[in-house]
Amino acid sequence: MEEIKRVEIKAAKQLRALMAQYFLEMDEAVKTKSKKIAWCSSVGPAELAQSFGFLLYYPENHAAMLGANRTASDYIPVANAHGYSPEICSYLTSDIGAYLKGETPLTKAYGIQKIPKPDVLLYNTNQCREVYDWMSYYAREFKVPILGVNTPRTQREVREDVVKAAAAQLEEMVPALEEVAGRPFDIDEFRQSLAISLECSQLWEAVLDTALARPCPITFFDACVHMGPAVVMRGRKEPNDYYRILLAELKERVDQGIAAVPGERHRFYWEGMPIWGKLRSLSELFSRLKSCVMVSTYCNSWVFSDFDPKDPFQSMARAYCSIFIGQDDTFKEDYIADKVERFGLDGILYHDAKCCPNNTNNRYGMANRLRERLGIPYLVINGDLNDLRCFSEEQTVTNGEAFVEQIEELQ
Ligand code: SF4
Repeated sequence: MEEIKRVEIKAAKQLRALMAQYFLEMDEAVKTKSKKIAWCSSVGPAELAQSFGFLLYYPENHAAMLGANRTASDYIPVANAHGYSPEICSYLTSDIGAYLKGETPLTKAYGIQKIPKPDVLLYNTNQCREVYDWMSYYAREFKVPILGVNTPRTQREVREDVVKAAAAQLEEMVPALEEVAGRPFDIDEFRQSLAISLECSQLWEAVLDTALARPCPITFFDACVHMGPAVVMRGRKEPNDYYRILLAELKERVDQGIAAVPGERHRFYWEGMPIWGKLRSLSELFSRLKSCVMVSTYCNSWVFSDFDPKDPFQSMARAYCSIFIGQDDTFKEDYIADKVERFGLDGILYHDAKCCPNNTNNRYGMANRLRERLGIPYLVINGDLNDLRCFSEEQTVTNGEAFVEQIEELQ
């Protein structure tokens, strides 16, 4: 088999240091009681909490770590035994299972013995109802307040009445957050947190846009790892500094023609959740097939262009109501079609994630409709974000090879 010589992204070193700093700072704050901790769903009201000085912890990020280090399957059955169905979100079941066993990947990675105890739990159902059920479990366990925004989903367009209702729910959280934080709300701090988060979004989008180049300097699999700071530290300055470094390196790669996939021949879209425990093997498979999986809905989900510090509640509500996962298929198809055309893609890979119907988009005819509309083929990869019992390596390799052969015949 041909050996693939990939040029590693140098900024990965700074990335590791930044993620360590994030977790160690939180651990220190819990031990010294110097700062309060808010747990937040991944596209929940992070910037509002930040303006009160909370440190933000994301159970989904913790669950993705369980997926990436392939320990999720040790924990999913533990949650199942506590009445959480094997059919539901495997982020939720692996995270709750790890909690029930009193284990965390933070111990091996950073020497942290326990996940940080929350002072308040925050969610937004813009992505799915599961985040509410997940946070509700911890609200019962830790006996702390749970606050959130209930957002309608499957929207054809982002309606102003929906945005207004979401903004009102955000404002309603303020007195409860003041009580937990022990300090008054400061709208200027909120504006500042939103401005910093907007800059993070813009930098992250610029990072993803380097994939416009031929050859492309970064794959979807790389981006899944490098998006960490945008997910867990948006609203703080550190990720923005990090993305300036990463962006400079990627621009240099573009100038020098350094390819993420040496000999890039095909350019693909990844639709749906990552398969965390298989990022490396999928990256190697498609590299071997000279195919760069480069654009995804998932990594673009942390671009919040609507934030406007001048109108913080409304604009934050609009940004969080507008995320891809919350819209209907018409919106989603236009979104994907635009990316396929803009980035010059040759095929779409749909990850059919067994436990996440919310972020699986091939089940209601979209793949066929987009094939007809765009004239490019698609491949469905059956799997799951964390539950590797749903993924067959052998079948994926065979299907991936056949898919690339099919594309080569078409070209
Ligand atoms: S979007 Fe899917 S993977 Fe994410 S929390 Fe909801 S159900 Fe789980």
